[in-house]
Amino acid sequence: MPVSPAHLPDPQFVALGSEFGDPVQAADFPQTLLRFRNDGAAVTVGLDTLTDAEWIAHFGRFEPLPGQPGPIAMRYHGHQFRHYNPDLGDGRGFLAAQMRETSRAQAESDRVANDSAPRPRLLDLGTKGSGTTPWSRGGDGRLTLKGGVREVLAAAMLEAQGVPTSRALSLIETGEALERGDEPSPTRSAVLVRLSHSHIRFGTFQRAAYLNRPDMVETLVEHARGLYHPGVAAGDTSAFYAAVVQASARLAARWVAAGFVHGVLNTDNLNVTGESFDYGPWRFLPSYQPEFTAAYFDQTGLYAFARQPEAVFWALTQLGGALKLVAEAEPLTDALNGFGPAYIRELRAAFLERLGVLSLGEAADQRLLDATLALLKEGGEALRWEPLFHDWFTGFASSARALGGPRGKLYQGEAFDAFRFALFEHAPDRPERLEHPVLARPEPEEMLIDEVESIWPDIADRDDWSPLYAKLERIEQVRQARL
Ligand code: AMP
Ligand code: MG
Repeated sequence: MPVSPAHLPDPQFVALGSEFGDPVQAADFPQTLLRFRNDGAAVTVGLDTLTDAEWIAHFGRFEPLPGQPGPIAMRYHGHQFRHYNPDLGDGRGFLAAQMRETSRAQAESDRVANDSAPRPRLLDLGTKGSGTTPWSRGGDGRLTLKGGVREVLAAAMLEAQGVPTSRALSLIETGEALERGDEPSPTRSAVLVRLSHSHIRFGTFQRAAYLNRPDMVETLVEHARGLYHPGVAAGDTSAFYAAVVQASARLAARWVAAGFVHGVLNTDNLNVTGESFDYGPWRFLPSYQPEFTAAYFDQTGLYAFARQPEAVFWALTQLGGALKLVAEAEPLTDALNGFGPAYIRELRAAFLERLGVLSLGEAADQRLLDATLALLKEGGEALRWEPLFHDWFTGFASSARALGGPRGKLYQGEAFDAFRFALFEHAPDRPERLEHPVLARPEPEEMLIDEVESIWPDIADRDDWSPLYAKLERIEQVRQARL
């Protein structure tokens, strides 16, 4: 069947005009083998009714969906590891389509939405690995299959943990042999389609400012405000900026609570909705290690685990710099100064959510946050990040499970006593969730590098996709358990 009656095309970006993007064509791939089809995501935009053949036509050969203008490579600049690069832009991807969320998706989206956006929200289909564009800079415009698998895994895990994130919609293997310096080569190729709340990046604004085009900055602000921060009054650039600051603080806090290291927090990888996207060399933290880095090329640890809030703040200062072309400096600075308080507030909320307990006011919530971090620190490598949240989910009611479980002997001493005291002060949040089979397992679902790497040889050597699908199924169970 074609798209469902619930599918609501709404191409908005194209209306910005030719100065913001370029019409492009997808590469003509030798093969299109469907490897991953996310129907849970597809149903939220009325694409679940596509047959596999139609799916491949749209997401492997990029025949436009109904009502769409055709692929557009977005123009943007950005700071990469704090160096300005005016030669970025969509070099191996494009905006394939824009559409509204169906009403069925709203309840869940509301749960993670960071703004008073009216429903239904606008979603982008963006690609990775779809071929070269005017912005490819000598690159091949391709994505490795392993890179695609890694993005699918990261997005699924983050979604399960309540981090605002893009979702991987489709992964299609494309039958080419790629040369890469950081993977054994030749290596297999793929094209990924992601579903995301906006691909308008901080670097999109930076480019307009770099070109010294206040008119373009203004156009972008109005476009992004109206679509993504409609609670902000028209023309109020600093309030728009404040909304981006708040959403970004929330994102940074949720990464930290999830133990996630994005890896490449360049200003072209952060967008106006504060939704996490573009997963390359990401990792999840094994245990409390503030200096833990994900990207092998991040030699100074600029984007290390505990430096992520600072990296996001720095990127926000660059966005603010671009907005200065159209707004007064003082209210922009005030908005930026809201980052710190928003971050700590969101961090408390994120830890409460991960522990499955209700807020008891700022002071008690802060005590719990501090005690949790102190226990993780004291626990060292023996006390891994994810198991602590698994063991103590909803607090007091998990005591027997946690103390009698595989980490029971780690739960003693001063740091633990302080943690237990702070945790038990808080009332459980929907303790019936403990009845989910996921919580009855001794070990939580993790996503550490060894496991991620262990999934790949099955695919590479035997074309056995079952370990990947099994992992995704278990992650889905975690998402269900924590809802
Ligand atoms: P990323 O690190 O994935 O955010 O990419 C940074 C920039 O490099 C973006 O402008 C990408 O489009 C571009 N890029 C990354 N890989 C390739 C590639 N294989 N071919 C062309 N451009 C690429
Ligand atoms: Mg990127």
